[in-house]
Amino acid sequence: MVYEVKSKSRKLYECESCGLFYGTGKWAQKCEDYCYQNGSCSPEITKHAVRVY
Ligand SMILES: [Zn+2]
Repeated sequence: MVYEVKSKSRKLYECESCGLFYGTGKWAQKCEDYCYQNGSCSPEITKHAVRVY
């Protein structure tokens, strides 16, 4: 389940498995699927992650 997070003016989506944030639910879902299936993140997916801190 991808979490929808509201951060200031933008909406972010969190991968429940690794905790990375994405600007679109599509990438968060991709990441979560990959994380659960492989037990780790794919660099091809995490490069789309958004830094929030
Ligand atoms: Zn992930």
